[in-house]
Amino acid sequence: MYLILLGPPGAGKGTQAERLEEELHLPHVASGDLFRDNLKNQTELGLLARQYMDKGDLVPDDVTIAMVRERLQRPDCDQGAILDGFPRTQAQVQGLDRMLDDLGRKLDGVLYIAVPDEELVRRLSGRWICRQCQTPYHTIFSPPATEGVCDACGGELYQRDDDKPETVRARLKVYHQQTAPLIDYYRQVGLLVEVDGAGDIDTVSAALLEAAKRMTNGK
Ligand code: ADP
Ligand code: ADP
Ligand code: ZN
Repeated sequence: MYLILLGPPGAGKGTQAERLEEELHLPHVASGDLFRDNLKNQTELGLLARQYMDKGDLVPDDVTIAMVRERLQRPDCDQGAILDGFPRTQAQVQGLDRMLDDLGRKLDGVLYIAVPDEELVRRLSGRWICRQCQTPYHTIFSPPATEGVCDACGGELYQRDDDKPETVRARLKVYHQQTAPLIDYYRQVGLLVEVDGAGDIDTVSAALLEAAKRMTNGK
């Protein structure tokens, strides 16, 4: 089963993907996490991506598509994956279609997490991420048991450079220009399910899980 979590920065894609990962037994493949791993390891790809990420711009399609393709070819993705943050452009939509075609697979559905912009700014300004396992926390909405420490793995929590207000504004603009059009596209091809992402984390999880299960019905 291949699912996409679509939504603006701060919608809760990472938070919800971790929960769906457990429920559906599918790996969570997040393009942002893959770029941040490359940054941490100072790979050539990481150094290239950084120039775009720092400004809140999208990394070019060709390198992004190649990176995700490589990830989806690994054995743990044999039964499918939960894609988070990819695709983000029409070219990436086509890139994904091509890679699934090559694997003899197809996309099962797109879960769109809808959240208004004002709420996104609040969420991103309080976001802390685990340096080791990338689990997201929030100072108010989802605090860790011990300040600064990841509940899941004991790793150190940090705030992303690109979560500062100027960069968040740039990222939201990029989202509305380049990624939001994918909502209509996937709706037209009959793959989109929209979920209200403005509620608390548990309410959104329940709605997403139900939608994901409906997508697998009859398979
Ligand atoms: P968020 O969790 O806030 O939605 P991500 O972690 O998905 O943000 O992405 C962080 C940054 O990584 C983006 O601003 C962009 O620079 C880069 N990035 C991630 N995914 C993609 C993608 N599919 N295409 C291009 N750039 C991407
Ligand atoms: P994305 O991956 O879409 O950028 P995240 O999952 O990282 O979003 O969530 C962004 C921030 O908002 C995190 O600090 C997270 O703890 C918090 N968050 C996620 N979902 C909710 C929710 N439903 N209500 C309140 N805060 C949330
Ligand atoms: Zn962790």
